[in-house]
Amino acid sequence: MAFAYRGGTLCAEQVALEDLARRFGTPCYVYSRAAIEGAYREFTDELSGRASLVCYSVKANSNLAVLSVLARLGAGFDIVSGGELARVIAAGGDPAKVVFSGVGKAEAEIRAALQAGVLSLNLESEQELERVNAIAAALGKRAPVAFRVNPDVDAKTHPYISTGLKQNKFGIAWPEAERLYRKAAVLPNIRITGVGCHIGSLMLDSAPFVAATRRIVSLVERLEQAGIALDHIDLGGGMGIRYHDEASATIAAFVHGALDALGRRKETVLLDPGRAIVGNAGVLLTRVEYLKPGEAKNFLIVDAAMNDLIRPALYDAWHEVRPLREVESGAARGVYDIVGPVCESSDWLARDRLLAPRQGDFLAIMSAGAYAMVMSSNYNSRPRAAEIMVSGARAHLVRRRETPAGLFEGEQVPEWT
Ligand SMILES: *Cc1c(COP(=O)(O)O)cnc(C)c1O
Repeated sequence: MAFAYRGGTLCAEQVALEDLARRFGTPCYVYSRAAIEGAYREFTDELSGRASLVCYSVKANSNLAVLSVLARLGAGFDIVSGGELARVIAAGGDPAKVVFSGVGKAEAEIRAALQAGVLSLNLESEQELERVNAIAAALGKRAPVAFRVNPDVDAKTHPYISTGLKQNKFGIAWPEAERLYRKAAVLPNIRITGVGCHIGSLMLDSAPFVAATRRIVSLVERLEQAGIALDHIDLGGGMGIRYHDEASATIAAFVHGALDALGRRKETVLLDPGRAIVGNAGVLLTRVEYLKPGEAKNFLIVDAAMNDLIRPALYDAWHEVRPLREVESGAARGVYDIVGPVCESSDWLARDRLLAPRQGDFLAIMSAGAYAMVMSSNYNSRPRAAEIMVSGARAHLVRRRETPAGLFEGEQVPEWT
């Protein structure tokens, strides 16, 4: 366990989180390198002996240090913007292992991806195919493409993070897929590399993932009969993690299920997990500013807020909250809602938690490695939190805290007349 109590204090690997909270201030994110590497290796171990590539989904946590840890292990990357491509390259990632996903790639992004030499552009519409062909022609290149196909399988997750249904904006509609492959096969500046799918995030059960894999295999077989061979099959990400006490399928269950469904197919298997690699590898540290007992509710007002971690406000998400110092058995406990300073009633981080807090205590919001810092904002002119990466007994500042003046650096007051 990367985050565990040692001698009564919560540690990240061998570093006491309270030391980090005092040294770097709060709120701050702390990541464990060992936890990231461990989760990545669970995927690669399960895939060993099979042509495969794990493309970490950059949008889950795009800090350069996180990308660098994975790049050093040989990971590929799944990106959704030109900005993410720039990050991968800056972190030492190999562009030849990058899959570019997303429904709305701009011309400049497509050009940058082709010039960098990505593994594949995962296309999501006929117009995108035409645009990519034209840009590749102008650059004198053949663009490596896959279609992200929508298998119309229900991932059985939160509707905001479900992507594999007919009514979702993502992917090529199932009945259209074969026609678009035939069209792509004869375009002069297109090289078909594979097929992709991604049906949603935070799947707790592997069954929908396996069902989608079967659908994709049936398409690959039809394409083969039509004389269209693929190099790879990209099954996407979406593997769930445990935030609370929910029963989540293991990484092994997802991978085995998919490999089973792939049967004897020889194409390289790509997986693009995000949350499953970083979700439980990070925590958000915060300090108790005030205790505010009330008639209906007791509030614990902390210095982190929805602008730092929006998942509770956005998805009603549950994050475990732990005190950085283990509570003595005799301490008086109360039930609290943990809320931030932002002026919104949706600014809460956890509800109805049994805690024994005092003003000035530090808390860790657990499982805050994925879709946390990347979704932060400056709402209420709050500088973004610092990020720290622990590796063994060492802690590295991997993004400094923003400053109030930095927030309006790009703004100008006109010269009023
Ligand atoms: C977001 C995304 C992922 C990663 O999803 P997780 O739930 O974080 O594993 C993978 N593939 C694609 C195409 C995505 O858009």
